[in-house]
Amino acid sequence: MSHPNIWQPFTILKGAQEPLRVQKGEGIWITLEDGRRLVDCISSWWVTLHGHAQPEIAEALSRQARELEHVIFANFSHRPAEQLAERITGHLPPDVNRLFFSDNGSTAVEVALKIAWQYWKNQGESRQRFLAFEGAYHGDTMGAMSVGGRSVFNQVFEDLLFDVEYLPYPETWEGDEGILEREDRVLGMLDEKLSKNPGRYAGILIEPLIQGAGGMRVCRERFLQQLQLISREREILLLFDEVMTGFGRTGSLFAHTRANVQPDLIALSKGISGGFLPLAATAVSDTVYDAFYTDDPMGTLWHGHSYTANPLGCAAGLASLDLLESNPERFQRLEGLHREGMQGVSKLPNVERVRFMGTIAAFQIKTEGMDGYFNEIGSQIKARCMDHGLLLRPLGNTVYLMPPFGIEPDELTSVYRRLEALLEEVLSRD
Ligand code: PLP
Repeated sequence: MSHPNIWQPFTILKGAQEPLRVQKGEGIWITLEDGRRLVDCISSWWVTLHGHAQPEIAEALSRQARELEHVIFANFSHRPAEQLAERITGHLPPDVNRLFFSDNGSTAVEVALKIAWQYWKNQGESRQRFLAFEGAYHGDTMGAMSVGGRSVFNQVFEDLLFDVEYLPYPETWEGDEGILEREDRVLGMLDEKLSKNPGRYAGILIEPLIQGAGGMRVCRERFLQQLQLISREREILLLFDEVMTGFGRTGSLFAHTRANVQPDLIALSKGISGGFLPLAATAVSDTVYDAFYTDDPMGTLWHGHSYTANPLGCAAGLASLDLLESNPERFQRLEGLHREGMQGVSKLPNVERVRFMGTIAAFQIKTEGMDGYFNEIGSQIKARCMDHGLLLRPLGNTVYLMPPFGIEPDELTSVYRRLEALLEEVLSRD
């Protein structure tokens, strides 16, 4: 049972367990009101970049709060937003120079879709479809749900969602030998669609290198490079949803940097403020921006939010970028540490499809039940981990670790040791 005045997100209400009340966060630790301490192995819905209550960011926030907490962002601007836009675009492809601010990941995607759609309209073309990937998750607003993989999570809204054409996401894992063939099959499907119907597609949207909520499914850099080649050749926009992958998660500052790909639009959120405040941005190329550079009201992007470019969020973002830029080894080293830590776990019977992507490690548990979010094993593992001081939130039978970058090597080793023992116990029960 939750608080009588609160509706918890993503929760089946009847029979729900009482949420754990958190009192304090510090580094990798979350302290509950009853005194228990948990290692946050999932960066609290993938946002806590460096660690909880990071002192440098807390300081920057407190300074900014005394200076300017918020101001309307139409007709007004402020230094924190301008500096953050300069600093972020400095890390993006050379022709991606504009940021449109909003305040959560779904909205960053929603804005990207609206811009891509209108980009063609502004040039007198009406491109009627987006391409996206099976299993994708881009958020919970209508547009973001429309381009997400169709599932029980959005089924009730089916009639409200616009039509999208999906391609399989060519997921891979350690020791996978069939990936080249699977990638080429998807690329062939894409090329066929685009060559048969030039002028039909506004763009293609992908979670680059790793699909998050869809099951921490990893794809290869080569696939994204080929995707870029085809998108350029067939003249559609390439949209990257870097809401989860941005700001160091893939071991590079951005997934597109790691893959050496230059998308036309990039959705950013989650880690953008170091996990302190809701903030998001949609980055666009000069070519896309230029299509909106008009005095025609019909060619204008009529979109904005009350908290657009909130100065506190931007100040947190600047302090977080300082930390990322001065300590890149913090996020670069995690893939190696995961590989070491995972050695024991990966040898357990029923553990399969082990994969790594920068600061993220994941694997499947083979069970009698169906693959997916509602596989019971996830809740069992979550409960046992919680009893032993680990906050994990498996996606059904997909177990993953995505700790804050500040985790020390010995702390991660200890997480893996505990996880291995707990998995052994849970799996031997089955
Ligand atoms: N895009 C991706 C890749 C995500 O992982 C998420 C959230 O998990 C979203 C978009 C939606 O972000 P938000 O929950 O901030 O709306």
